[in-house]
Amino acid sequence: MYWQQELETMPVEALRALQLSRLQTSVRRAITSPYYQQLYQQRGITADDLNTLDDVKRLPFTTKQDLRNGYPYGFLTVPKTEVVRLHSSSGTTGQATVIFHTAADIRDWANLMARCMYMTGARNSDVFQNMSGYGMFTGGLGFHYGAELLGMLTVPAGSGNSKRQIHYMKDFQTSVIHIIPSYALHMISVFEEEKVNPRDLHLRIAFLGAEPHTEHTRKRVEDAFGVKAFNSYGLSEMYGPGVAFECPEQNGLHIWEDSYFVEVINPDTLEPVADGEIGELVLTTLTREAMPLIRYRTRDLTSISSEPCPCGRTHRRIARIKGRSDDMLIIKGVNVFPMQVEAVLMSIPEVGTNYQIELETVENIDVMTVNVEVRDDFFLGDVKGLTALQQKITNALKSEVLFTPKVKLVEPDSIPEAQGKAVRVIDRRVAH
Ligand code: ADP
Ligand code: ZN
Repeated sequence: MYWQQELETMPVEALRALQLSRLQTSVRRAITSPYYQQLYQQRGITADDLNTLDDVKRLPFTTKQDLRNGYPYGFLTVPKTEVVRLHSSSGTTGQATVIFHTAADIRDWANLMARCMYMTGARNSDVFQNMSGYGMFTGGLGFHYGAELLGMLTVPAGSGNSKRQIHYMKDFQTSVIHIIPSYALHMISVFEEEKVNPRDLHLRIAFLGAEPHTEHTRKRVEDAFGVKAFNSYGLSEMYGPGVAFECPEQNGLHIWEDSYFVEVINPDTLEPVADGEIGELVLTTLTREAMPLIRYRTRDLTSISSEPCPCGRTHRRIARIKGRSDDMLIIKGVNVFPMQVEAVLMSIPEVGTNYQIELETVENIDVMTVNVEVRDDFFLGDVKGLTALQQKITNALKSEVLFTPKVKLVEPDSIPEAQGKAVRVIDRRVAH
């Protein structure tokens, strides 16, 4: 049931003590990088200032912009001879950042990934098909190394080539997959086209991660594929996947507190928020050698819960990520997260597997158009049915976002598939 029982079920007090000693080491190490050395010197901060976990508040935050300023080697704490790999973020929100790893970092990361997957029930008897992009993207090699460490037969399929993916699943009797949620939805329609029912294959577990998705999306994937789907959260700045993962309870993601010191703050006041309140996740690496990051502002919005989990793990749980703080759209003065739109759409059975939000300015007014793919069988139905569906979606969206969006029903597969993470919003507004 546990990969590392002692660590995963460590009594909370012992876990906090471990965090403090690791935090001290991590800060001591960080100070040897050009970036932190200069910053901490300017502010007169030394590692000796950390006597309790609360003292972390004295340390400045690190932002994505800081990483860009220190690009590429400004955060390194080891000679380049000790660095064995680099990865970069996907660059979803601007210039990508680069993270370096020592051999020990790679082992540590693989271990965390093995821990996550083992937690969900994956075992060395499984065949694991990694359907995420490889290369710089951490979802490829991150899962790959963890799966091999766990002992699964690992198929490095990568993303795309959907028909070939189905062949692999059949030929190798794939039982576990890792796939980003938008691609999983797309695969549902590929299976339909190929007239293959994924429930007839050997699939039993799916890891869904790398982008926000809703509970309804999980349900859809579970129902269509005949799997249990687990939410996987991570970011390249903290190794990649393996930061937080769902356990068999599927109720929040355990965040590995032996590896990360976790804070949730109000992004405006920068003060901590209470348990259960939504804020920005701030993470400090506790074990990474090559490139420790102190109080890194992830921009991801979530809440944390200290409620004991029936699975017995003592590491706290974060809620499904609501989106990034910079995902929030202000439309007609109303705050809207793309995930609110997804939650509405994925709860409507006639809706297909892809959607996109377009924003324009028409006569100085924001106009939101939601392009919605409709399932084949409904699309071929009569016009009356389609008009009724369009009205149903409009009303459902209106009650969520509080203004009336335009809804355009489109054929299955007519919205271009993104290479990698889905592009949910196209903003063509003049000024916002
Ligand atoms: P980029 O920030 O350029 O997309 P990464 O590939 O490092 O680069 O992606 C990490 C980000 O992806 C996270 O900060 C988060 O916004 C998003 N993400 C990763 N996993 C999840 C998940 N399970 N749910 C929601 N968002 C996720
Ligand atoms: Zn649990």
